[in-house]
Amino acid sequence: MKDSFDILVVGAGPAGIAAAVSAAACGKRVGLVDDNPAAGGQIWRSGGEVPDDAQRWIAMLEASSVARLQGWRVFDAPRSGVLHAERGDGECGELCYKNLILATGARERFLPFPGWTLPNVMGAGGLDALVRGGVPIAGKRVVVAGTGPLLLAVAAHLKRHGARIVAVCEQAPLSRLVRFASRLLGEPAKLRQGAEYRIAIRGARYLTGCWIVAAHGRDRVESVRLRQGSKQWDVACDFVGCGFHLVPNIELPALLGCRIDHGFVSVDDSMQTSVPGVYCVGEPTGIGGVELAVLEGEIAGRAAAGRADEARKHAQRRRGKLGFLRALQEVCTLDPQLRSLPTADTRICRCEDVRLVSLDGHNTWRDAKLQTRCGMGPCQGRVCGPATEFLFGWRVESVRPPIFPALVSSLGSACEADGLQQNSAPQGASPAFEKETL
Ligand SMILES: Cc1cc2nc3c(=O)[nH]c(=O)nc-3n(C[C@H](O)[C@H](O)[C@H](O)COP(=O)(O)OP(=O)(O)OC[C@H]3O[C@@H](n4cnc5c(N)ncnc54)[C@H](O)[C@@H]3O)c2cc1C
Repeated sequence: MKDSFDILVVGAGPAGIAAAVSAAACGKRVGLVDDNPAAGGQIWRSGGEVPDDAQRWIAMLEASSVARLQGWRVFDAPRSGVLHAERGDGECGELCYKNLILATGARERFLPFPGWTLPNVMGAGGLDALVRGGVPIAGKRVVVAGTGPLLLAVAAHLKRHGARIVAVCEQAPLSRLVRFASRLLGEPAKLRQGAEYRIAIRGARYLTGCWIVAAHGRDRVESVRLRQGSKQWDVACDFVGCGFHLVPNIELPALLGCRIDHGFVSVDDSMQTSVPGVYCVGEPTGIGGVELAVLEGEIAGRAAAGRADEARKHAQRRRGKLGFLRALQEVCTLDPQLRSLPTADTRICRCEDVRLVSLDGHNTWRDAKLQTRCGMGPCQGRVCGPATEFLFGWRVESVRPPIFPALVSSLGSACEADGLQQNSAPQGASPAFEKETL
């Protein structure tokens, strides 16, 4: 498959949908590629309760001229103006663009603790998604833990589906949460939403400065040990949803050579990255929630379509919303004590079964990868990379194609399309066929 667009958008979450619809409304030929069968991203693609805003944007997308490539995952950026993508059935595609908008979203941050790989221990958002997908949760005892507003949202949603929320454990101390709430006084809708979640889970324990130190069970989780200050106690449960805020998906922007600052893609007022013609919107530029993601999409869609004046008007509104993003970052700062959760035997890289003890003596991410295969499995370090960054201060120095595991046949056809040229990203990344990335 080969196709060309004036503007190609990667990621059909709220940010990508807003970008694609806005660009198409300016008369451009727009493509929207996403690795899921349905558009909507983390929050809008789910079944169940779809908010009015989501319905409005999805209706606009359906009524637009945007060419939708659902179920396609971009795995390489072999040269300027070209992306390679693969579909679930193994078909490989070459997508050409004049301007590119990256809206690749974020994923949950996991921190390892003894028992975190037991069945029924999963990410808070992951558990939420399973329940939206039909996994029965009614009557099940659930502990939700970690940090960030997602915990309350997930707990409230699971409760609505009949779960018994045993406890919500937020690692941030109460004083920081109060400061966060006071900063939200200018955002009444967010304060109201938080209050609604809190009311929805009334009766459940909401514990601050509290986290899981271990999960126990034979074939699946049966209980967790919680710590709050100097107190520790066990709580019986059937499911654990545990996530420590979100990590932006910056692999594709990094592969394209976009400048990354403190873990986020650096953009100007029009959402353009350091690479001319490449824009970035939504969570990769900062974790700021769905409203900010949509606004950024509207800015980039217009800017990429050459409507700079219109984009500028929206950019002013964006500046007003960045306070929430900063407040969120501050409240989710991880407590250094969480570094002492894994024991020698705790798996750090669950794909390659690398335990903490094996990482002793390694000083960098690269060294650990080469010597232990940490981060070399199917998730390509998406889980253990952010964990080791927090645990040991290791940084992922470079991103190499393919950024997602791809079929050898796709890599082959990608190379054929390139005339077996160098399969390297613009910033000079290494060839796709290196053993390390396969
Ligand atoms: C359970 C849950 C509840 C939430 N509740 C709220 C809430 O109440 N209020 C709020 O403000 N926010 C909430 N959020 C956060 C909200 O989901 C995000 O702010 C929002 O989804 C960000 O939109 P986005 O478009 O940036 O990213 P996403 O929604 O993550 O969309 C990115 C899309 O890009 C796709 N993608 C990534 N890389 C590739 C690739 N290489 N090739 C193809 N496709 C790719 C992804 O699969 C995904 O579909 C919640 C999140 C979760 C998980």
